[in-house]
Amino acid sequence: MTAPPVFEAALAKAKAWHAALPEAVAFCDWPDDLRYDDRTPYHLNATNQLQTAPGAPSRASAPLLSALQALAPHLEWRHTYTADEVGQHFLDHFGWFELAGPTGHFVTQKTRITVGYWGSGLHYGRHHHDAEELYTVVAGHGIFHLDDASDLTLCAGHTRFHASNRSHALTTTDSPILTLVFWRGDGLAEAPKMTAQEVSV
Ligand code: ZN
Repeated sequence: MTAPPVFEAALAKAKAWHAALPEAVAFCDWPDDLRYDDRTPYHLNATNQLQTAPGAPSRASAPLLSALQALAPHLEWRHTYTADEVGQHFLDHFGWFELAGPTGHFVTQKTRITVGYWGSGLHYGRHHHDAEELYTVVAGHGIFHLDDASDLTLCAGHTRFHASNRSHALTTTDSPILTLVFWRGDGLAEAPKMTAQEVSV
């Protein structure tokens, strides 16, 4: 099946984004087996929020941001988490979709490429997953937490690597953040798991 032009345009911009980021090129090859799958759109609040309040892009990320905004109404947006896990306020300002991957708008088994949106003033608690991960920030900024590492404030064009099953978290302050995330290795189709909180003494 041929992808609609709005999907092809966003995929081309994502591919160019990957090619322009040395960390992304080092992390994974751009998948060469992508096949468009006609998935039913599903809207969340993030569908509109990405269009109206995406956060600031860089000069290099602006074309990708525009393409993703045009794509927003056509996407199968997901939450994965429940209100019990993360709270309703979080869900009202968060959403993600799988651009490419085992269950993506473009199917591949070689990597997983997701796009996540968080509104300002949110805390995405500690979580982990088998797959290795490279975050790239497309717009806005946020504070990235990683166990046994210093917090880092990242904005458009910055990246952060998360090793397999190493817990990480994200806090947004006065801006939303839009990220494009690559996964590699085992567990490409799995959902992240919230990390049990240790009791502090
Ligand atoms: Zn992660």
